[in-house]
Amino acid sequence: MSIQNSDIMYRRLIEGVVDYAIYMLDPEGNVMNWNAGAQRAKGYTPAEIVGRNFACFYTQADQDRGLPAKGLGRARDEGRFEAEGWRVRKDGSLFWANVVIDAIHGDEGELLGYTKITRDVTERRERDRQLVQAKVLAEHYSAEMRSLSTFLEAVIAHIPSTVLVMDALSRNILLANRQAETLLGHSRAEMEGRTVQDCLPANIAATVERLTDEALRTDGVKRDEEEWQTARGSRILRLDTLVFHGVDPRSRYVLLIANDVTDENAAHAKVRYMAHHDTLTGMPNRRLFREQLLKALPTQGRHRKTAVLCLDLDNFKSVNDTLGHLIGDELLRMLAKRLPKALREQDTLARLGGDEFAIVLPGIEHDDDVRVVAERLIDVVRPSFNIEGHTVSVGVSIGIALAGQEDISADHLQRFADMALYEAKRNGRNQLAFFRPEMEEAARKRRELEMDLREAILTRQLQLYYQPITDASHVNITGREALMRWTHPEKGVIMPNEFIHIAEETGLIHELGSFALHEACREAITWPAHETVAVNLSPSQFTNGSLVSLVASALQESGLPAHRLEVEITESVLLANSAVNIATLNTLKKMGVKVALDDFGTGYSSLGYLRTFEFDKIKIDKSFTQDIATNREALAIIRAINGIGRSLDIPTTAEGVETDTQLERLTQEGCSHFQGYLLGRPVAHQPRAEPAVKPAAADDLDLDLDLGLAAAP
Ligand code: C2E
Ligand code: CA
Ligand code: CA
Repeated sequence: MSIQNSDIMYRRLIEGVVDYAIYMLDPEGNVMNWNAGAQRAKGYTPAEIVGRNFACFYTQADQDRGLPAKGLGRARDEGRFEAEGWRVRKDGSLFWANVVIDAIHGDEGELLGYTKITRDVTERRERDRQLVQAKVLAEHYSAEMRSLSTFLEAVIAHIPSTVLVMDALSRNILLANRQAETLLGHSRAEMEGRTVQDCLPANIAATVERLTDEALRTDGVKRDEEEWQTARGSRILRLDTLVFHGVDPRSRYVLLIANDVTDENAAHAKVRYMAHHDTLTGMPNRRLFREQLLKALPTQGRHRKTAVLCLDLDNFKSVNDTLGHLIGDELLRMLAKRLPKALREQDTLARLGGDEFAIVLPGIEHDDDVRVVAERLIDVVRPSFNIEGHTVSVGVSIGIALAGQEDISADHLQRFADMALYEAKRNGRNQLAFFRPEMEEAARKRRELEMDLREAILTRQLQLYYQPITDASHVNITGREALMRWTHPEKGVIMPNEFIHIAEETGLIHELGSFALHEACREAITWPAHETVAVNLSPSQFTNGSLVSLVASALQESGLPAHRLEVEITESVLLANSAVNIATLNTLKKMGVKVALDDFGTGYSSLGYLRTFEFDKIKIDKSFTQDIATNREALAIIRAINGIGRSLDIPTTAEGVETDTQLERLTQEGCSHFQGYLLGRPVAHQPRAEPAVKPAAADDLDLDLDLGLAAAP
């Protein structure tokens, strides 16, 4: 091949290369020729670019830094210059170029120009960049993994539970956290890589083994609670064991988490205790009582019974009222210590509230055994208590109900005992009563009566009867006592002894009492001016603090002068809350109202009461009148009362005089006033004729005429 031919071929070859931009520059850097690769890479046709300076391929910033000239300079001085950098296409887009510039010298060493080979390596550069990024990322991740593992380790260490992980196959401990170290008293190093038998006390190891076996068998979670002798002493632990699989599904691990629940259990036990015990006395409360009763009922054997005793203290309220709640509370606490002395280990004594207690006696063979227990209870309560220098005595009333073979619910049994208690209370202090079926009927009647009584107040079925009281002449009437009667639409006339106590128990006494005061005053205003009207006040009327205003309104509305109203109270008014009640009585007295002490000689009678308040009258209870001829004790009491009446200058009224003999003896004994069937029965008030037709000397008329003669029981 001729030199010329080979030169042409060489040029064709170069011009045909499309992957490389190959062109020549003159010594000033102007493009001398331009191959297909250059056109492809940079977008210029040879006509457009030949003759232009190659600096136009550089970015403006690179041109400003003089890079084109520097590149040529290096090639000239060093023969070759190689670099990579951004180059600009005709359309302004950029590509990353690998550039090689070779200086071409003539035979004499003079510079002819440069060859320049440029390759678009944008893609390679991108790959490299990604590779670098991936490497950076990988390094970052590996650092992160390292910190994650330390992080997880810290987490496990700080879990407030003991954590042990064991390999299911070898049973070696693989992991033990910090809590495990303190609980078990071994360092991680001592535990990890060894089995529980190898490093833990035998009983703990046995439990862990057992739980592990169970968890592996079921592949589930096992929970248990056990007391362990640990490095921190005897602790109750809640143990959860579960199995999990590793990345390789054939590997299994056992995770044991132990939580110390000693304190939590103690707190729960305390809450449970508080829910079942009375805070004041520490005795079981109503809830525990019920639970124990429910437990006792079905377990009674063929011949054994369960007894429920309901207890209520006699006179507790007055202790509270007179000595204060602190003494009352102390009394209850002392009782809580005394009462169990009468009981067996298996009996449950509970405080239901206030001064109410109840007892479950399981396994009773004979009814009489319960009587013995009840009597013992009465006996242990009887001796007086010494509380902060006060001598306090109370009694206890007990109602008893027994459940044997018959199907009887806990509720029923308790209600029966309650009904029996009601009966015991009615019989006085320190009494016990067994439930009898009639009591249920009586309780039902009481409830019925209570409902009827509400109705009676609304529909004016209540009425006052008046019984005359005479002076020593036995004929001059000085006043009349108002006695309530209830005319029931079906049952006929009901006597106060049948309904007053119901009114007292239900609070209806306030309505009844208000009616009696207003009605008695309104009717008495029509009587002769020297006659008084006596109205009975129940102790419960003293409890709501409005008694004084009630009396005042009755007087004001009727216009009756205060001195013509006499209120009759019993000693129990002085017994309960005496300071407040005496103040009330004194206010009434200051208003001019007279105050009589009723039924004197019965109940807690003490002549001392006569000194605590200046009574206007003492009424000697009719039981003494009835016994005067036959009972020397009755006579002695009448004498004593009259003696003190004389010395304190208080008139005495003998109640319940039915015979001439009684009247005679009572007159001899010095009674100043008399009341009884002999002198006049309680009768309904008969309105007087209108003043216009009334005879002038109405007051002188026979009183039977005035009041009519509607005889009453
Ligand atoms: P009390 O205050 O002792 O009243 C006297 C009771 O003796 C009356 O009974 C009267 O009917 C009865 N009585 C009168 N003379 C004789 C007699 O010669 N022989 C006999 N065996 N009894 C006689 P009553 O009316 O049944 O009243 C019973 C109790 O009911 C009263 O006893 C009183 O404590 C209470 N009571 C009556 N009315 C009221 C009232 O309006 N309010 C209050 N809080 N209590 C009342
Ligand atoms: Ca009376
Ligand atoms: Ca009386």
